[in-house]
Amino acid sequence: MMLKLEQIKVAYETIQRDIHHTPIMTSKKLSEACENQMFLKAEHLQKTGSFKIRGAMNKVKQAVKEGATLVTAASSGNHGQAVAFTASQLHIPATIVVPEDANRSKVAAIKAYGGHVEKCGFTSEERIPRAKAIAEEKAGVFIPPYDDPLIMAGQGTIGLEILEQVTDADLVVVPVGGGGLLSGILTAIKETKPSVKVIGVEPELAKDTYLSLKNGEITSIGQTKTIADGLRTSQPGELTFPIVQKYIDDLVLVSEEEIRQAMLFVMERMKQLIEPSSAVTIAAAMFGHLQVTNKKIVTVISGGNVDISQLHDMMA
Ligand SMILES: *Cc1c(COP(=O)(O)O)cnc(C)c1O
Repeated sequence: MMLKLEQIKVAYETIQRDIHHTPIMTSKKLSEACENQMFLKAEHLQKTGSFKIRGAMNKVKQAVKEGATLVTAASSGNHGQAVAFTASQLHIPATIVVPEDANRSKVAAIKAYGGHVEKCGFTSEERIPRAKAIAEEKAGVFIPPYDDPLIMAGQGTIGLEILEQVTDADLVVVPVGGGGLLSGILTAIKETKPSVKVIGVEPELAKDTYLSLKNGEITSIGQTKTIADGLRTSQPGELTFPIVQKYIDDLVLVSEEEIRQAMLFVMERMKQLIEPSSAVTIAAAMFGHLQVTNKKIVTVISGGNVDISQLHDMMA
């Protein structure tokens, strides 16, 4: 069953008062560098530092409604932080299963949001069953990162906001991991105003959705080391991919060097700390991958969670 616009509108009703209505930012220098009029949807200023709280809030609220006494997730990144924060807001415990070698600052962030951290293995194949088992043992609900209608609907609320904030947008550019963000935004935009083009962006090193579109079926890639750690998923979701296939106008790839340069440009010129997973959208515009000029382009700046102590090494 495909996600419907109506589900996104219901999600917006559900979460609107719990999230920030993030601003649209503009920059003359960036617009000049991209040869287009650039509008940045600033989800790096969202609560918990990424858009992931939209889907998490929508899904965890439903779980609470259905009587869950616990939620679990298997992510040390933005999704884990969003679930921990959301659960504490809704006064239920959250257990976040992270890899044995999880980054200290990420574990600290989950704990600071009130989440209980459990370490397990090194791969998501080990973590996901563990997080599901904990949920089952304790009448809890496992909160998936993208392949779930309530998560996708939550992320899609960004599309509704973009249509209101930039009423004459020509093009919306979205980073692609598992495709929850993209499938939600595609549904919101294509079922409201199909003339607006939507383009996805992946790192060359994590082009699973690109390959899946080319092959006409879900295609997996091996482990990847892209600097864009929010986009390292090995394949698109079973629920997200058909929507991407149906509606997407194009999916373009950017290099690691282009991601770094885009991130640096936004930090230096716009004074905004954005994470590499967001910078892919700027990179696509800056380095000509969108193949348009003088258009109104909205890029989704999906998050700003960067470990400051690692920033120098990251940019080297
Ligand atoms: C999760 C995430 C993405 C990708 O979202 P998907 O729904 O997995 O495609 C992009 N950017 C950031 C910052 C993220 O945390």
